[in-house]
Amino acid sequence: MRRILVRAGLFVAVLALGACAAQHAFRWDVHDMDRPRPPVVTPGAEDRLPPSDAIVLFDGTDLSAWHGRGGQDAQWKVENGYMEVTPDTGDIRTRQRFGSCQLHIEWASPEVIDGSGQGRGNSGVFLMDRYEVQILDSYDNDTYPDGQAASIYAQKPPLVNASRKPGQWQSFDIIFHAPVFEDGQVKKPATITVFHNGVLVQDHWEIQGTTRHKQRPSYDPHPDKLPLRLQDHGDLVRFRNIWIRPLDD
Ligand code: MG
Repeated sequence: MRRILVRAGLFVAVLALGACAAQHAFRWDVHDMDRPRPPVVTPGAEDRLPPSDAIVLFDGTDLSAWHGRGGQDAQWKVENGYMEVTPDTGDIRTRQRFGSCQLHIEWASPEVIDGSGQGRGNSGVFLMDRYEVQILDSYDNDTYPDGQAASIYAQKPPLVNASRKPGQWQSFDIIFHAPVFEDGQVKKPATITVFHNGVLVQDHWEIQGTTRHKQRPSYDPHPDKLPLRLQDHGDLVRFRNIWIRPLDD
């Protein structure tokens, strides 16, 4: 009899522990009315336009959100609603710093084809100043796959080549989760999802480290937030309609 009671007691204890664990696994009941409501966001009039909670980094008028070489004002040309790389003035960086984010950016490579491979419409979007999504005129222009448009440069080719013709406006929609560092080591690598002209080209891919040229990537610990950077690679690449939504990880 005593043995049966002990076994029953153990069974009840296990059940209680299980219920406790289940409660921790599910913070909210199913259909819980106390659950906080997601914030209301008004979408842009067109999907490419910034929603109400976005930070607009370039609306076609000025470069006040950006700085150039050495913290000086950005020197790229602004006209007709776009900015254009002005060769030899250097990369431009946002004054504000960002970590995880959703980013929308539109770009166009020069209509007049000049050069080939990496020398044709080259620029780049550097998340956190160091993880490059490549911009290149990849329309009928062969190069190494991990360096074509929408590649994670020197790491990962895009799933498909969704490039438009030179001179046409193209878009990147990027979802980026910043890496997490602990004791000088990467604890959680960055991940990236990219849509090129609305087509999925990077699918929650784990970035392997800081973008390097002709070198294997690796992580260097860095702050939680850093500027977004656009590359001056000497080609007359244009940009317009750039907005960002910081994400809470
Ligand atoms: Mg580049």
